[in-house]
Amino acid sequence: MKIYLDGKFVDEADAKVSVFDHGLLYGDGVFEGIRLYGGNIFRLDEHLERLEYSAKAILLPMPLSRKELSEVTCETCRQNKLTDAYIRLVITRGVGDLGLAPWLCAKPSLFVIASKIALYPKEHYENGLSIVTVPTRRINPAALPPTIKSLNYLNNILGKIEARQFGALEAIMLNDQGYIAECTADNVFVVHKGEIITPAASQGALKGITRSTIFDIAKELKLPIREADMTRYDVWVSDECFLTGSGAEVIPVVKLDGREIGTGKPGPITQQVLASFRRRVLVEGARI
Ligand code: PMP
Repeated sequence: MKIYLDGKFVDEADAKVSVFDHGLLYGDGVFEGIRLYGGNIFRLDEHLERLEYSAKAILLPMPLSRKELSEVTCETCRQNKLTDAYIRLVITRGVGDLGLAPWLCAKPSLFVIASKIALYPKEHYENGLSIVTVPTRRINPAALPPTIKSLNYLNNILGKIEARQFGALEAIMLNDQGYIAECTADNVFVVHKGEIITPAASQGALKGITRSTIFDIAKELKLPIREADMTRYDVWVSDECFLTGSGAEVIPVVKLDGREIGTGKPGPITQQVLASFRRRVLVEGARI
């Protein structure tokens, strides 16, 4: 596997960063998880825009322009002869000393990995996931805006560990007011009386690229969609529930906290949205 690392394509074994990199020492950096479908990178421009916004929010200078980043991302796929892949784009603060000071880090480091992705097992796309709400709360946006896709994922990792302790593959995380923010690595949607509803990013969610695709799909399918404050109760009594993410795509949820959602099977609107999503990814996006 060839990895793009600071201007060069190197073998996996040589793709190394320093132990003094603040991305490693402090989680000081930003990233994107992007998908390549049949030779098209899905919504690359939106991902690069979110990356730029994340970097701006943490005062991290972008090492390359949007156009250059786009080219490097495509070239990483070409170098590895991939047509379907998961692409990880990472910018770290770079090498500094043992203190926090980012201004002592000489220059940011950029690497791009294009590899295979392990999705949720296929049976869950057909039968739906059973998930739980975990005790760990999503970070308060006033402390660290969850809209920044930073290398600081400990909050989500704690949620993921708790999900596993409860025997679930994914979990709903509440914000400190008890409203649903999102899952550990996915956004959450419900369908109630024909309407698609999702928490606003201001409740502590990442502005998911797949999430924004769902708004476009809803428009195309003429399905009403809106953002709203949501509690666990709203999911328990919903007709359908699904999660979205670049890795997860669109995955049905059939149980939350031991309560069956709707009929206990993936619902018709979820299936319609999933089918539309699968069509879109093959035609939308930047050709590598
Ligand atoms: N929330 C979190 C915390 C995430 O890490 C992700 C990305 N896996 C998402 C939501 C979904 O975002 P996207 O659709 O852009 O992948």
